[in-house]
Amino acid sequence: MASRLEPLLRRMYAPIYRIGHRQATNYRCPICEYVGPFRSKANRQDAKCPRCGALERARFQYDVLRREMPTGQTRRVLHVAPEPGVARLLTAKFDEYVSADLERSDVDVGLDVQQMPFPTAVFDLVFASHVLEYPERDDVALTEIRRILAPGGAAVLPVPLMHQRTVDRVERHPVTKVLHEPGLDYFDRMRTIFDTVDVIRSTDVDPTIQPFVRSRDRSVPMPLEESPGVFIDMMPICRVDYG
Ligand SMILES: [Zn+2]
Repeated sequence: MASRLEPLLRRMYAPIYRIGHRQATNYRCPICEYVGPFRSKANRQDAKCPRCGALERARFQYDVLRREMPTGQTRRVLHVAPEPGVARLLTAKFDEYVSADLERSDVDVGLDVQQMPFPTAVFDLVFASHVLEYPERDDVALTEIRRILAPGGAAVLPVPLMHQRTVDRVERHPVTKVLHEPGLDYFDRMRTIFDTVDVIRSTDVDPTIQPFVRSRDRSVPMPLEESPGVFIDMMPICRVDYG
């Protein structure tokens, strides 16, 4: 019940938040179209949309996806580890939408990205955000993602940027459970599997959606600092050529 009430309460709360923070910078949420100041979250300033709850990464990814989605005849999308905002966008834009996850039960298909239960060349888009850091063989996962993409298809595969250079762990991180901690060189792994990889930065999108992590907290290292306390996110679009 609480989860069903939450969106309603947020919609009622957003205009009140806006009035209470009239002096603050106004931003625009591309997911719910709210315009006004954003909320802070933990040590991150201007992080959260008060209306739909979307954070920096979700707004950045949504904005890029809306612009960059492939066009074609058959339009079928696979959404791994689905986020609600992106799920709504993909459902509206594609003829066929398939959600998937390794552990969750609220999806269409349970799967391991290292061994996908799909025939070859059946999807036009695969979207999997912050997924590749978990499988033991991320190279096998990338090969599988390419295999299920149709000619002309694309995979959008953002990873959390943690270091200058990628660290592959021997054992999973005790808290985050990741095996791979991506650095700025991580996109080279995608380039060995896909025909082209375009990396879009949060500096490439409309700054009024506030796509940056703004934080003075140095306990979570992020490698790309645009200006003091403003960190850049990156979003790789991995393409398969038309045969
Ligand atoms: Zn919003």
